[in-house]
Amino acid sequence: MTSLAATLRDLRDRYIALHESKEDLFWSAKMGLAADVEATSRAAAEAEIALNRFLQDPEMLSRLRKTATDGSGDASERRTLQGWVAMFAANAIDDPQARALSERIVEAEAALERARGAMPLGYLDPVSGEHVLAGSNKLALMMRTDPDEARRRAAFEGLRSIETFVLENGFLEIVKMRNALGRMLGYEDYYDWRTSVVERMPKRDLFRVLDDLAARTAEGTRAALDAFARTHAAKAAPGEATMDGAAKQATTSPTAPWNFGFLRAGAITRELDPYFPFDQALSRWGRSFAALGVTYRGATLTLDLVDRVGKYENGFMHGPGPAFFADGEWRPARINFTANAVPGAIGSGLRATETLFHEGGHAAHFANILGDAPCFSQEFAPTSVAYAETQSMFMDSLLGDADWRVRYALDASGQPMPMALIEAAIRESQPLRGWDVRALMTVPFAERALYELPEDELTPERVLETIRGVERELQGLDAAVRPVLAVPHLLSGGSSAYYHGYVLAEMAVYQTRAFFLARDGYLTDNPRIGPDLARAYWAPGNAATFDETLRALTGSGLSADALVDACNRSVDASIALAHASVEAQRTRPRFEDAAHDAVQLDASVRVIHGTHLVCTTDGSDFATAASRFAEWVRGLVAARPS
Ligand SMILES: [Zn+2]
Repeated sequence: MTSLAATLRDLRDRYIALHESKEDLFWSAKMGLAADVEATSRAAAEAEIALNRFLQDPEMLSRLRKTATDGSGDASERRTLQGWVAMFAANAIDDPQARALSERIVEAEAALERARGAMPLGYLDPVSGEHVLAGSNKLALMMRTDPDEARRRAAFEGLRSIETFVLENGFLEIVKMRNALGRMLGYEDYYDWRTSVVERMPKRDLFRVLDDLAARTAEGTRAALDAFARTHAAKAAPGEATMDGAAKQATTSPTAPWNFGFLRAGAITRELDPYFPFDQALSRWGRSFAALGVTYRGATLTLDLVDRVGKYENGFMHGPGPAFFADGEWRPARINFTANAVPGAIGSGLRATETLFHEGGHAAHFANILGDAPCFSQEFAPTSVAYAETQSMFMDSLLGDADWRVRYALDASGQPMPMALIEAAIRESQPLRGWDVRALMTVPFAERALYELPEDELTPERVLETIRGVERELQGLDAAVRPVLAVPHLLSGGSSAYYHGYVLAEMAVYQTRAFFLARDGYLTDNPRIGPDLARAYWAPGNAATFDETLRALTGSGLSADALVDACNRSVDASIALAHASVEAQRTRPRFEDAAHDAVQLDASVRVIHGTHLVCTTDGSDFATAASRFAEWVRGLVAARPS
């Protein structure tokens, strides 16, 4: 064995041992599986520190960089070495001065997080005048659903109090240190450093695409907001008769941040609910993915989908076992994903189906990365956020398609979703489609502005003024519905200068959809999609850049064109497209699930609920496992206290 081959094997084995141990403990801690919860979460934290120590070792990075320049090894070994260099470069800092500063930043971030955690967040009750404690999820929910306008406004002001709090508790010092670090490492500022390392795109190039998207959705969004304000102002006018006596109203402006989301939320969720029974979610996922030709190359997928006491409150997918070839021998992926569905609650079936499509899309991606080392197929940096989210968001985008809905969204008696409901859903969502994208863009634009402020202007007043300006410009309201500095991503080192990934992914999803629609005419049950995504998007893993994967499939680099078209399409044109896609699917064969073993995902799928195994495809076919799942869910719904 050459010395390079030995080095690569050693890296692989050490990384896999540290990664698997960290991830298995993480899963056990987050799912509340262990008998001793305290001890498990302590062990999980220690395993994470051990992995970080390995990945942040500056000497390892210098040594690998030096090896990369000495020309040893064959082409495949050199490619693998480059993969490891990229992985260590995304985690380690080899300049000692910069490393010291980075450590000071981590300490300051931890101090701010502690202060923020101890902050008595809540709202001032408009009737009693008392301060009521409430977390940020609760405050956001109040803004969307509380019929009392004064309470919605109080919830909004509660969220805003996070901003003044963080500005007075060290956030500005963190921004200054982050910028100093970015510049020390040779970049324009902190944001530029992060995009260059994580997305492998300088800030300038990234925002060229985002600026384009913002410019081309401005006019349509302005018109949609004007129409929205007119409609709701008319409803609120005294003496004005409305069709619906219980119509939602607001006495202050309909575009005030505490009114906008509330007035927008319609009755569609309730009407869609019968067509998304929770018990059918697993079956629909399996059949749709199999019909697309998606396979998992022997992976083991463990799914824990239902909420319970002691379980972590956010859904996620993690891959404890990255897929790769170990000395030519295939090691299939081992992937876990979780959701917090409440069977029987309105909208829970749709959300469970979305989770399965989204996380199942991530899993398909990570199970199909064909590198010679695990550095290419793990979900953290240098794997780009935009690249990873494109794979999951493409899959969940299918659920909104009219042809998917008439084929798969059947109610309990087997009736497909009617066209009238498909149209009503389009009428509700399409007019503000552009606004939704601009709301997502508010975070990266505000962060860019923050890191570009000259140091002597980094005062609470100037920062808030700058952020409010970005919010008004993009959302067209007096202020953003969710105050930017109340978004937790900005505070922590791991997720700041990161949110653009979701916007870039949304662009790539529409670019991908447009490519398949132009080439094949349809998406639902198109058997060419799985193999094409596997070849162009999934196989290289992070060895290719996001842009290179898009070029490999669609023939062009990342562009806002397709998303701009989707945002600016009129309601009538969207409805016409929905009708055409439903017409066109009539002549195409349906995925044949008459044969009991038609769903071939090449995966071992296990659904668990904590320590209880609900169903598995081991020793049985997918349809049998899916009907066990359905039975179990029906049992949960029946047992649910009403
Ligand atoms: Zn995701």
